[in-house]
Amino acid sequence: MEHPENNAEYAGLQVNAGVEQPSIVNPYLKNFRKKRQRLFTPGEYVEGILKGDVSMLSQAVTLVESVLPEHQTIAQEVIEKCLPHSGRSVRVGISGVPGAGKSTSIDVLGTHLLENYGGKLAVLAIDPSSEKTKGSILGDKTRMERLAVHPRSFIRPSPTAGSLGGVARKTRESIILCEAAGYNNIFVETVGVGQSETACHSMVDFFLLIQLSGTGDELQGIKRGIMEIADGIVINKADGDNVDRAHLAATQFQNALHLFPMPESGVLPKVLCYSGFYELGIDEVLKMIFDYIDQVKRNGYFQHRRNEQSKYWMYETINERLKNSFYHNPEIRQLIQPTEQDVLDGQVSSFIAANRLLDKYFHLLKN
Ligand code: GDP
Repeated sequence: MEHPENNAEYAGLQVNAGVEQPSIVNPYLKNFRKKRQRLFTPGEYVEGILKGDVSMLSQAVTLVESVLPEHQTIAQEVIEKCLPHSGRSVRVGISGVPGAGKSTSIDVLGTHLLENYGGKLAVLAIDPSSEKTKGSILGDKTRMERLAVHPRSFIRPSPTAGSLGGVARKTRESIILCEAAGYNNIFVETVGVGQSETACHSMVDFFLLIQLSGTGDELQGIKRGIMEIADGIVINKADGDNVDRAHLAATQFQNALHLFPMPESGVLPKVLCYSGFYELGIDEVLKMIFDYIDQVKRNGYFQHRRNEQSKYWMYETINERLKNSFYHNPEIRQLIQPTEQDVLDGQVSSFIAANRLLDKYFHLLKN
C-alpha cells in the first residue's frame, strides 16, 4: 500500500522556506525614546489630554511627578488649564493591609465597573514605602492583569519622590489630569499602614476599607481610628472555608460601627463580604459605592467634602512650601545640626532653639 507520506501533497513533511527573523532589538525604540523625552508646550499637553490621548496624559503625569523645576513649571500650567475640565468623576479610595487583596479586588472591581457601568477608569496610588525603597509596591501594572490591558483604563504606580505629603499632592494633581482626559472613575489605592490613609481620604469621595477576617485586624482597625474615615468596609476572601468567619467578622464590624457617632455624610457605612479572587459579591460592592455617591450628592455632602478637600490642599501646599523653603535654606541647613546639639546638651530649650532658627530665617528673607 502506498504510504501517505510518500505522496507529494502530504504537507507534514514539507520544509518551509525560512522566515527572516526580525532583530531582537526594536529598531524604532531609539526614535520612540527620543520622542518621549521631548517636552511639549503646556498647550500641547492640555490639547492632548482633553482629546483623551493616553500617551500625552502619561507624559504630563510624569512631569507632575518630576522634581525638576522646568518640569514643575510646565506641570503647574497644565494642571491649571485642566482644572476647569476636572471634577466630573467619582473618586474612590481603596485601602487595606498588604495581602488584604487590594490589587486583586481593584482588578475585578475595575473590570466589572467598566463592563457594567461604562465610562473610563484611572487607577492611581499613594505608597509611602516607595519613599524609602524608591520602588513602588502599589499600582503596579502587572498586579492588575485584566485592567492593565483594558482599553478604557489607565494605571499609574505611586509617585516616588518626597514626603508623604508631597507624594499625596502629586497623586491629587494627577487626578485632575485624568479627569480632564475623561476618566470619570478614579481609584486611589493606598496601603493600610499609618498616615497614608488620611492622605488618601483627603482626596476621595468614598473611602473603602478592605479587611480580612480572623486576623485580629478587626480590632486594629478600630484602634487606629481608621474606621472613622471609612465610608464602607468590605471583608475580602469570603470564599471556601472562610465564608462563615467572614460573615462573623462583618457582624463584629457592624456592631463596632454603632459605637461611633453618625458620620458627617449622614450615611451609615455598610459592611459587606465578598471574594475578589472568585468574583463573588463584586457587583454589591460597586452598588454600595454608587448608592452612597447618589445619597451624598442629594444631601449636599458630596460638594461639601470636595470643598473641604480643596481648602485642605491649599493649606497643605502652603505648609509644604514654607517647610521646604526653611529646611532647604543653605544658612539654616548649616545652623540646624549645632542648634540641635545645643538642645541635646541642655544649653537651650527646644522652644528657644526653634525660635532662634526661625528668627534667623525671617531675617534672611528680609535681606
Ligand atoms: P494586596 O497586597 O492587598 O494588593 O493583595 P493581593 O491582591 O496581591 O492579594 C494577596 C493574596 O491574596 C494573593 O495571593 C491573592 O491571590 C489572594 N487573594 C486576593 N483576593 C482573594 C480572595 O478573594 N480569596 C482568596 N482566597 N484569596 C485572595
